[in-house]
Amino acid sequence: MLKLLEEGNLESTENDFCTKHRERLQHYCFTDNQPLCIVCAEYENHNKHDVKLLKDIFEEQSKLTKDIKERLTEVMRSIEMGFFKLNVEAILR
Ligand SMILES: [Zn+2]
Ligand SMILES: [Zn+2]
Repeated sequence: MLKLLEEGNLESTENDFCTKHRERLQHYCFTDNQPLCIVCAEYENHNKHDVKLLKDIFEEQSKLTKDIKERLTEVMRSIEMGFFKLNVEAILR
């Protein structure tokens, strides 16, 4: 997710459409690390996954202090994605 943010892809992802359902991608599944449309989120077995609205992710992101953002960047550079993901979730919580 942070990788997407860093590359500036999350915003364009928000405007993309699900290839399966032709719905706008407005959710993001942290369990699968993939963007979802409303149909995916509710009917494609993501209901027990950690799914958030993209706009909520943006809001959380904007709430983070500069310090935490810098720390995240550090962590992201030095740690593999799987472990990093756990850290991001811990910080965002
Ligand atoms: Zn879909
Ligand atoms: Zn999922």
